[in-house]
Amino acid sequence: MIRLGLTGYPLEHSLSPILHTAALRACDLQGVYSLYPVEPDDMKSLKALLDQVRSGELTGLNVTIPHKQNVIQFLDGLTPTAQSMGAVNTIYLKDEKLMGENTDAPGFLADLNSFLLENIALLEKMDGIREKSALILGAGGSARAVAYALAEAGWTITIAARRIEQAHRFANPQMQVTQYDSLHIANLLPSFHLIVNATPVGMFPKTDVSPWMDGLAFPKGAIVYDLIYNPRETLFVQQARAAGLPARTGAGMLVEQAALAFQLWTGQDIPRSIMFDAFNGTGH
Ligand code: NAP
Repeated sequence: MIRLGLTGYPLEHSLSPILHTAALRACDLQGVYSLYPVEPDDMKSLKALLDQVRSGELTGLNVTIPHKQNVIQFLDGLTPTAQSMGAVNTIYLKDEKLMGENTDAPGFLADLNSFLLENIALLEKMDGIREKSALILGAGGSARAVAYALAEAGWTITIAARRIEQAHRFANPQMQVTQYDSLHIANLLPSFHLIVNATPVGMFPKTDVSPWMDGLAFPKGAIVYDLIYNPRETLFVQQARAAGLPARTGAGMLVEQAALAFQLWTGQDIPRSIMFDAFNGTGH
């Protein structure tokens, strides 16, 4: 019996149980994926939960806000990605060692690549650019994952943050940090080939707002990626498409990060369509 789960707080709205339950069924594996809410300051319960993975009672865990950093103190090792990011979203046992991985960064990159592969002209255009430059809006946990992923893939990164110090917590000296306002962004705009929204602005239920400032033109020929997956088409994505830019929301990243975690726990490389079908069935 495979026992998987998610810890964090709060957890009610997570789609992970739906995605992983579909994957278990598709692989004909007997198992469950449960929610283990642990309050922000309750390190004793967090450690006790991780001990269940160590003892084999649980096969593996996903970790979300606010525990992505808290769990590190209880682990035996980190993968290079989790180490560099200083954040863990997947815990698994390897050679009796409790390991932490972060599948958000490779999940984002995998879906960005799928996006490009779906449009060969776009892919060729991107491949032809010598110094690819990305603007990331926001400086929270997902901005950190996106910045790490793009930097690994050779992109030049600019992070736009309303609290500059938040971006400096993870930005390396090669990354540029700028104030998140139209004045600062407008000055840098023409150079960007990719704009990523890593803020919750536009997420359900407040879907009538956009992280893109009023009156700001989109850079010509850029791509837009909005990490939000609810709704399926955000106002930001609508604005980008209306300006002629290819744009997509974050369902693909959600599926990729889940599939990579599932592979660590079960060894199964699940067809992404299984998780996409499960996601589509949620009505998001
Ligand atoms: P987070 O850690 O709370 O970070 C959010 C960031 O956005 C912070 O820097 C925050 O700044 C900034 N922000 C919030 N409201 C803003 C506003 N009105 N104007 C400017 N900046 C604002 O959240 P997260 O985990 O990174 O998640 C961000 C979004 O990505 C969420 O919508 C989440 O659902 C989505 N996401 C999607 C996936 C996926 O798989 N597709 C994965 C992870 C996250 P302050 O700290 O100053 O508030």
